[in-house]
Amino acid sequence: MSRVCKMSKNVREVFRLDELKDDIRRNMVALLGNDPRSKRKFSYYNALAYSVRERLVDLWMRTQSDYYDSMAKRVYYLSMEFLPGRFLMNYLTNMGIVDECREIVAELGFSLEELEEEEWDAGLGNGGLGRLASCYLDSMVSQNIPGYGYGILYDYGIFYQSIVNGNQEERCDNWRRHGCPWEITRLDTLYEVKFYGRSETYYDSDGNVRFRWVDTENVMAMPCDILIPGYGCSHVSNMRLWTAQSSREFNLSDFNRGDYIGAMHGKVMSENITKVLYPNDQFLQGMELRLKQQYFLVSATFQDILRRYLKQHTSLAALPEAVAVQLNDTHPAIAIPELMRLLMDVYGMGWDVAWDICTRTFAYTNHTVLPEALETWPVDLLGRLLPRHMQIIYEINRRFLEGVAATFPGDTERLSRMSVIQEEGGQRVRMANLAIVGSHTVNGVAALHSNILQTGLFRDFHEYYPRKIRNVTNGVTPRRWLMQCNPALSRLITQSIGPEWCCNLEKLRELVPLAEDSAFRDAWARAKLENKRLLSRYVLRKVQMGINPNTLFDMQFKRMHEYKRQLLNVMHVISLFNRIKDNPSADITPRTVLFGGKAAPGYYQAKLIIRLINEVARVVNADADVAGRLRVAFLPNYCISQAEKVVPAADLSEQISTAGMEASGTGNMKFALNGALTIGTLDGANVEIMEEVGAENIFIFGLKAHEVAEKRRSGYNPREFYENDAELRRVMDMIGSGFFSPDERGLFSPVYDSLMHHGDYYMLMADYRPYMEAQAAVDALYLDQDQWVRKSILNAANMGKFSSDRSVMEYARGIWHVEPLGK
Ligand SMILES: *Cc1c(COP(=O)(O)O)cnc(C)c1O
Repeated sequence: MSRVCKMSKNVREVFRLDELKDDIRRNMVALLGNDPRSKRKFSYYNALAYSVRERLVDLWMRTQSDYYDSMAKRVYYLSMEFLPGRFLMNYLTNMGIVDECREIVAELGFSLEELEEEEWDAGLGNGGLGRLASCYLDSMVSQNIPGYGYGILYDYGIFYQSIVNGNQEERCDNWRRHGCPWEITRLDTLYEVKFYGRSETYYDSDGNVRFRWVDTENVMAMPCDILIPGYGCSHVSNMRLWTAQSSREFNLSDFNRGDYIGAMHGKVMSENITKVLYPNDQFLQGMELRLKQQYFLVSATFQDILRRYLKQHTSLAALPEAVAVQLNDTHPAIAIPELMRLLMDVYGMGWDVAWDICTRTFAYTNHTVLPEALETWPVDLLGRLLPRHMQIIYEINRRFLEGVAATFPGDTERLSRMSVIQEEGGQRVRMANLAIVGSHTVNGVAALHSNILQTGLFRDFHEYYPRKIRNVTNGVTPRRWLMQCNPALSRLITQSIGPEWCCNLEKLRELVPLAEDSAFRDAWARAKLENKRLLSRYVLRKVQMGINPNTLFDMQFKRMHEYKRQLLNVMHVISLFNRIKDNPSADITPRTVLFGGKAAPGYYQAKLIIRLINEVARVVNADADVAGRLRVAFLPNYCISQAEKVVPAADLSEQISTAGMEASGTGNMKFALNGALTIGTLDGANVEIMEEVGAENIFIFGLKAHEVAEKRRSGYNPREFYENDAELRRVMDMIGSGFFSPDERGLFSPVYDSLMHHGDYYMLMADYRPYMEAQAAVDALYLDQDQWVRKSILNAANMGKFSSDRSVMEYARGIWHVEPLGK
């Protein structure tokens, strides 16, 4: 903190701000080949980006030599996804030069905000899991924990979503088409990554049996770094993202036959590995290319880790004292057999020594209990692509099951449940089981979720390894998710309690007494209204629809998923519509209900719900009786930069998943931190949010996780709710009969049927009435603005726990065993 304050005093000097304007002009010419007299925003954005980036390179190099000199243990955060969003404002915020930069840009004839809009989001992830990785990098480097993110630089990130006639359409996101000024490509570093071939045994000079992986097809991995500045910039780290490059060896036989193009073809194809991000959130698509991507990340990353380690060590025996590897879900779990292979086949270690090193190096974070998201790979696929790894997995499993059998003699059922190899329906490798066996620690991402892992999904493992499965509740970085996205509220908070909150979010608690101060409440309400006005303008631009900032902004923004129950929200909207139609003079709290979120391109039901939202919006928004009291919109292409506009403007945050199914959620944290009140089920981190903000400041409703489980066991009858609740019956009949799709009456039958005839797996029917009651309490409270604003303040004030700084320190102390580097 002291360093941050020192830095902000002479920030002009440290970052040579007096030279920034000249540097922008210089980069316009030198790097972009543009005339600085041109007024193209895009050129100025790029010139500014390069000029900002170059100010961090020095600090980055200094940080790296700090890490090196101190021999500090390093954290490697391996993730198939990062969702950083835009970088410009994040760099300026963490450098502490937003205001200075705004002035300089104004002198050049632009507003900082318009240049900011020129940047295309880095959408290298699907949703929560990727965003968490980005928040953790921000927190790690801000707290001087030596660490790096490792991932893949996809040419095409998460698709761009447009809405055409109410339906989602996917457009390709070639986000790097116009270049990306934040990337530093390391053209001189290339690692070879092997695929296919076969495992061969041979005898070494001492007569020991050894293995080698031969006849492989090789692809090269080239790193591309993006700098990650910590807050105050006392440290700057990076994420290293890999791109696939063809190797230069040609298929000589093709070549000799004169088939140059044929020989080139395979090489060109190999570069496809990093072309595109799989757009499924919480869903396994068992494609060979996806497994290739996973191994590509892992193989390149471990070559890099060992290269760096071996610069300072002569033996690999101390690897776990110098390296902690966090697996973000099982996506990179092939790292476990890969490290075993390297230690044994390349560095000549025996199994036991290698296994000990391995299991002291890895930790695994589980993000889901949804069966469709648990990764399993067919043994024949994995064995063909990575034959040596398949052998090692079998051996890991053989030894593991020997241990289990010794502890639980005769319990063969248990053995088959715990086996890394699933036998039913063709042999498959269970990546979660592999990750648990090969890691020293496994964590869930919220208290409830970790509990469900211990007693449900991983119960057998918890009995066998009683200390391995733990909890680290997720968090979000207060820099991007309050300071940067909500300048109005940040200013007010800093004026009231000083600036320390952004590095010590618990400080927000000093706002608690101010909730009783009416002048402060007015200022708080003004900041929210300003954000709602800004969002209204954005909505007008995006969907040509006017919304009234004086209505209650009710928001559900997250990936489209049946378990997240956007449909339940729609059912509430339809109910409100009916109430107004039945009684046009009814005194109701005016609401604007906004939705956003992408559906996986192959997820039919989720896409149909997007269509339903849009058709309901069409009917509601066109109805004269409803005008001024209820408006509905679906904002296309939810992404980080959109979230930064939506989150500060929310009054009500919808977190209404079926209890037991949302592992944590981080959207819930962003919204509450920005003063939205939550309506939600006791699921994921909502449970802990309630504990922090107080049950009287949150709208909790519906079945609890154990009740959902109990109902699933004892038989659940959704029709009973239909029959006993006339309002619900009417809503369902409208959906089922084509009220919202007059030209295609059966359009929404699959939605109706899933609830009425296919068992309503997500239990919307059971939660409908409790949800309606909670929404009625929301309406009543909103009419009492004084009370509403008081609760809004108390929500933000009590969100200290949900800073990713806290999460990262829990990982550092309890899992990685690293200390922040002293400054
Ligand atoms: C925070 C965030 C998410 C995760 O939202 P949940 O409500 O936790 O599912 C997904 N996408 C984007 C763009 C986000 O900013």
